[in-house]
Amino acid sequence: HSKRAGSHSYACYQPSMVDHRADDAALAEDLQHALDRGELHVLYQPQVDLATGAPIAAEALIRWQHPARGPISPVRFIPVAERSATIIGIGLWVLEQALRQMTVFDDPFHVSVNVSPRQLREPTIVHDILAVLRRVGADPRRLVLEVTESALVDEAGEIAALRALREHGIRIAIDDFGTGYSSLQYLTRLPVDILKIDRSFVAEMDDTPEGSAVAAAVIRLAQVLHLSTVAEGIETEDQAAELRALGCDIGQGFLYAKPLSPADLVAFAQVPAG
Ligand code: C2E
Ligand code: MG
Ligand code: MG
Ligand code: MG
Repeated sequence: HSKRAGSHSYACYQPSMVDHRADDAALAEDLQHALDRGELHVLYQPQVDLATGAPIAAEALIRWQHPARGPISPVRFIPVAERSATIIGIGLWVLEQALRQMTVFDDPFHVSVNVSPRQLREPTIVHDILAVLRRVGADPRRLVLEVTESALVDEAGEIAALRALREHGIRIAIDDFGTGYSSLQYLTRLPVDILKIDRSFVAEMDDTPEGSAVAAAVIRLAQVLHLSTVAEGIETEDQAAELRALGCDIGQGFLYAKPLSPADLVAFAQVPAG
């Protein structure tokens, strides 16, 4: 095993890493049929207005129920899908599911959908996303696309695609903000509306006063640039209270709800939050 893994990986050797590589081809093969076989579904994690507690949006999160292996995490299979064209079809399918789900809710409830870098590199991506919006009859202003900053650094094609989508009223969020390697300067040039504070920074808030420094800085930066902020991975009332005091707009995390089935999302959104 370890010989095939290459010497560079000895330092952080974990059996699962090597197993994953051997297993990638099998997973990629199964993924090609997963959509047709109805093995994929989408859950929705609510986002709440931190000031009022009201549910105002949901993030679509894909799930794969493998017939032989049981549930497989998107952390495991999305990177596999990204290495082939499979992510293109899967990504548009998630978008369509999410937009159909959103039509159940009243304006301005919106839906947030993750978009992988591989999707943004597809020359037809703008056309394809707009086509799904038209087919479903959904208002582009109620759609947020989440991209990671690594997808955007010096990637002119991807940035142009986002700019075109934004001109149609779609909002762009930078996911896991602060975990990439980019300079802050790039933010002022990007077509972006929302910064999502990575849950690692939210988790750090509990530890020490310094633990809040990154979250506080991101929120302040967003305010200066007229962007809104979503904090992900909120698990405690203390974290929520501190983020609220810092001026963070929206919260998402197990404190409010885990990712929910469509029916459970409807129930959650109808119960007045308190
Ligand atoms: P993400 O977009 O940053 O999504 C947030 C992840 O954090 C989700 O994991 C969610 O279940 C988890 N989470 C939410 N609240 C909490 C909390 O309070 N505590 C903790 N510990 N975790 C929390 P999930 O659903 O496993 O998704 C993992 C990643 O997979 C996502 O990270 C996203 O990058 C990717 N992903 C999921 N669905 C899609 C998709 O449809 N398309 C693409 N391209 N990527 C997707
Ligand atoms: Mg996300
Ligand atoms: Mg995130
Ligand atoms: Mg994250």
